[in-house]
Amino acid sequence: MSFASDTKNELCRIEPQRCCRKAECYGLLLFGHSFSLQGVSLTTENLATARRAAQFAAEVAGAVMDVSAPQARKKDAVVCTVSAVGEEEARKVLACFGHTGHEINLHIGFANMENDCCQAAFLRGAFLSCGTVTSPEREYRLEFAVPYMNLANDLAGCIRDILELDLVPRVSRRKGAFVVYIKGGSRVADFLTFLGAPNAAMELMQVQMLKNLRNNVNRQTNFETANLEKTASAAAQEVLAIEKIQKHGMLDDLPEDLRELAELRLQNPDMSLRELGSQLSVPLSRSGVHHRLQRILAFAAKLR
Ligand SMILES: [Zn+2]
Repeated sequence: MSFASDTKNELCRIEPQRCCRKAECYGLLLFGHSFSLQGVSLTTENLATARRAAQFAAEVAGAVMDVSAPQARKKDAVVCTVSAVGEEEARKVLACFGHTGHEINLHIGFANMENDCCQAAFLRGAFLSCGTVTSPEREYRLEFAVPYMNLANDLAGCIRDILELDLVPRVSRRKGAFVVYIKGGSRVADFLTFLGAPNAAMELMQVQMLKNLRNNVNRQTNFETANLEKTASAAAQEVLAIEKIQKHGMLDDLPEDLRELAELRLQNPDMSLRELGSQLSVPLSRSGVHHRLQRILAFAAKLR
């Protein structure tokens, strides 16, 4: 089950009150496949949404809508079509929401949202009908694919008008549709909560938290790896220098304090400076060891 269908199933478990039921039904049908005298219908991959649209249309508009059996469409997608049976039923739906079916440009009829509570219900209907939300593992994005430009702009305005959220949805074109979308983890989570899907919002935030945590760990590991490499390459240089001195047979020419350290380093190329210091007959600090190793390197550099 995808994140989007889980979210839709959660939204379909909400039992709205009468005014909100009408607003949600309006959102469901207005943002469907067709909303005119030629037909009122919507196509969805979510069976709960299909049933809900038919049930609400019957309750709110007294219209009979038919739910088709799920049909396989490209790849694994299975879709249901919900449609008003005949022109008479389509007319009932349109009239109920104050539309004639002769509108040149389809706009949202805000009179269908009687009370403040109905705004969320209307947007929930629109989301169930033409919306989707990407799995948070991939991206934080919620979008509506709307067939008409005016309707898309109205919808974007409607989302912008949610006072408590302060969202600025974008509108773009894709394959003949107008896509209204919101991006960003906390924005999408806030919007899902507003629609009535707090569980989906919670899941999104948990995934986001884990991702952030994982990124921080990776960054830390990269930092440590870089440091290790630096240490390793420094040690390798030291070993090379000491071997060079050895080849020249000059190891015994080193001052006593350097010779002991040189032998120790040669046998322990992996040791940190601190460890090397602690192994000396007279223990030495990290910076003391560093200083002596520099002297060894300088000594080796002078050899031809
Ligand atoms: Zn309401």
